[in-house]
Amino acid sequence: MKIRRWLLPLSILSLWFFVLPYMPKTAIESYHRLYQCLVPRLLFVSSRIPFSSGDILYLVAGLWLLREGIWIGGKKKKFSALRLLRGIAWATSLFYLCWGIHYFRKPLGQRLHYGRETETRARALALCDYLLQKAESARARIDSFRFNPKNLAVANSKLQQAYRRLPEAMRERDVPVFVKPSLYSRLMNYTGISGYFNPFTWEAQANTGIPAVQLPFTLCHEAAHQYGLAPEDEANFYAYQAARHAPDIEFQYSAYFEALRYTLRHLMRAYPEAARARLDSLPLGIRSDFKRVAAFHNKYRNATYAVTDFFNDTYLKANRQKRGRASYGYFYYLLLADYNRKNL
Ligand SMILES: [Zn+2]
Repeated sequence: MKIRRWLLPLSILSLWFFVLPYMPKTAIESYHRLYQCLVPRLLFVSSRIPFSSGDILYLVAGLWLLREGIWIGGKKKKFSALRLLRGIAWATSLFYLCWGIHYFRKPLGQRLHYGRETETRARALALCDYLLQKAESARARIDSFRFNPKNLAVANSKLQQAYRRLPEAMRERDVPVFVKPSLYSRLMNYTGISGYFNPFTWEAQANTGIPAVQLPFTLCHEAAHQYGLAPEDEANFYAYQAARHAPDIEFQYSAYFEALRYTLRHLMRAYPEAARARLDSLPLGIRSDFKRVAAFHNKYRNATYAVTDFFNDTYLKANRQKRGRASYGYFYYLLLADYNRKNL
């Protein structure tokens, strides 16, 4: 047995675990700047491939895992288990090197100098009413949704326009963000996943089967990961800010629609009566979009939703997102901080 073969990746991996949490934030920011400088060059080729090469990579990795699993169940148990461990250690090391370090950045709220927010009922309801009014006026300008993410050129040019209009404090290098349709869109319907980012190929993928009202926000969310935002609440906030400033009305509506959904979900827990009153008086267009989204997820919801939730939750908790799946919802606090700053 060649111990070196699996000791090396495990040593690199341990190094990541011991060094990363103690790395100075300035060093992490330097990594981020290097990432934003190098990745656009590396993505130049990838952006010209119309399909997701990362999806092919995942397929090969899945087949390899299956093969190793079969070996473990067979005669060569010991060797195969070590090979499997070695493969996972290499993949995890690569994950941190390619992109995972972003989980160790200073939180976005601190980078934007938002400070600690104290939520009051009045402020929470004012935010909800603001989003409601914005969503209503954007919805009034949409007859039917025409946005088609399968038309890559148009979808990505709208996405890039949105990112170019990010507020000054959030804009960094001009990263040519782009999203590809997932090769597994049909399968993803059954998992509740709207999109994902591949940290090894830096490709962002979207499930093109989700309701059209959610697509622009999803594209902007996955592009935020490509931009160098790792935590889910921060990616949601970037998606919101990019989409609401986009010239395209469907992007704008998608931003306010999703922000409203998250805010109402929070209000349902914190101030149920006030939230119920707002839900009962939703304008017709927004109400039908809420229903469409709920119907889509109810149609596909089954045991695989719970399995995907479990894996996503575990992945996030292993990557410093102690709230796991619930961290998506913390987007609400960034919205509130942003709203308070502009309306004090
Ligand atoms: Zn995400």
